[in-house]
Amino acid sequence: MKTKLLFPFFLFLFCLLTNAQTTGKYVLVIHGGAGGMDENMPDSLKQEYLSSLNKALEIGEQILANDGTAIDAVEKVINYLEDNPLFNAGKGSVLTSEGKAEMDAAIMSGKDLSCGAVTGVRKIKNPISLARAVMEKSQHVFFAGEGAEKFAKEIGFKFVNPKYFIVENRYETWLKEIKKKKKGTVGAVALDKFGNLAAATSTGGMSMKKPGRVGDVPVIGAGTYANNKTCAVSCTGWGEKFIKNTVAFNVSAMMEYKNMNLRDAVSEMINNRLSPDDGGLIAVDKDGNFTLQYNTKSMLRGYVTSDGKRDVIIWQK
Ligand code: ASP
Repeated sequence: MKTKLLFPFFLFLFCLLTNAQTTGKYVLVIHGGAGGMDENMPDSLKQEYLSSLNKALEIGEQILANDGTAIDAVEKVINYLEDNPLFNAGKGSVLTSEGKAEMDAAIMSGKDLSCGAVTGVRKIKNPISLARAVMEKSQHVFFAGEGAEKFAKEIGFKFVNPKYFIVENRYETWLKEIKKKKKGTVGAVALDKFGNLAAATSTGGMSMKKPGRVGDVPVIGAGTYANNKTCAVSCTGWGEKFIKNTVAFNVSAMMEYKNMNLRDAVSEMINNRLSPDDGGLIAVDKDGNFTLQYNTKSMLRGYVTSDGKRDVIIWQK
């Protein structure tokens, strides 16, 4: 008799809990850097950029649609872009004035504000995954250079020869084109079906930067930020300006403290706090609203949502 009553009760509780846990709604927004992409670039190169952005969206959507988490989606999207030599992150990173790749990355979970970042890494194939390991496997949030790689070794990360990051003449024609342009940092923000937000950004930094220079990307609150109360943000552009203006955190702060909506908060930073040509950012809020704004000539970008919105874009629409 007792069991007869208990079973429907637990079933009811289970349904209540699972329904409360999943909204069925997801959003993924990505960027491949802001800058001066030449509108007259060869069509083949343009197609290559667009198909790379599409592939990145597919990877993230696959995870989110199958009840995966926002943090997994942003990490895997960034892994793909890091391995893709067209972008300024992982393989294909721009080089310092001494001809070396020194990479920065950060990842943040809006659920509990946990975050991890690395700067100045030279031998880690996927810096974003090391940033995630810092978040999940250490008691710290930010590791630099040798210390970052020592930590990586301790937890069994695979190392690559620093030459791996320097793209060879495989894409000769494209490379010539790419070299003329400022290559793009990569970023992703996501809202998963459980209402959790996450942000991830990875970069080789600014071309010809001085060795040891740290940009905005790994500085939590400057180039990367996520908070379930507000939004997830990933920035790209002139890092020093994004640090001075604490751009990513300020978007969240304006939403939390001033009750501004996502679009207006981002516009305030891009149009009123930064200067023309400084860069751009992508952001998604806790309700699934998203925005992609920039004050440069172009920003490689894309989005996909559970309600069927999808696009990849380079210049103004
Ligand atoms: N924000 C990056 C940095 O300053 C560069 C970029 O986004 O293009 O390191």
